[in-house]
Amino acid sequence: MSSIVSYPVMETFATLQGEGFHTGRAAWFIRLAGCDVGCVWCDVKDSWGVNPEQYRTLEDLITEAEKHKGKIVVITGGEPAMYDLDPLISGLQQIGFNVHLETSGAYPVNGNPDWITVSPKKFVAPLKENIARANELKVIVFNDSDFQWALTHHQYANVNCKYFLQPEFGKFKAVMPKILEFIAENPSWQLSLQTHKFIGIP
Ligand code: SF4
Repeated sequence: MSSIVSYPVMETFATLQGEGFHTGRAAWFIRLAGCDVGCVWCDVKDSWGVNPEQYRTLEDLITEAEKHKGKIVVITGGEPAMYDLDPLISGLQQIGFNVHLETSGAYPVNGNPDWITVSPKKFVAPLKENIARANELKVIVFNDSDFQWALTHHQYANVNCKYFLQPEFGKFKAVMPKILEFIAENPSWQLSLQTHKFIGIP
């Protein structure tokens, strides 16, 4: 049996973090392939499946990341927590990266990222332990029931957690007035926009 650690990778790229608390910061993205959560409005449906040729070794991913000046790396997906992330997270931390993880919270998180964004999805509910670990709770607003969904998870978060509501990009105009109204009534929540989409970067 091979002891080489590898992960299925859909893509890696340098960009700005477009969403949430770290919006606007330079970041190296590692998008792992594979997701079984099945959000109807998912904007990366190409990430759901995994092909054998997508597997890349941990060493390869670390060597590639090392070339980048910005020391934030975002591990996203897909649903990255489907995999044992501990070797990848600790390997990136050892070369000086702050490791940010974006997850739906549906799977236990292996490893200790420096920042955890949980974006809970109604299609597969998040684990309460993940909500409790989250530095940031980011709820995508697609329809009216997402506001109650946001409040439901708010109660399981830790005291330092940041709360964001983010309009689903295709529903932006329809849901924005309701988001503004909700934030006015629930001021612990903030607005997150997919700024990378507005300025046309990855
Ligand atoms: Fe898409 Fe993320 Fe939902 Fe998976 S969890 S279906 S990658 S939006």
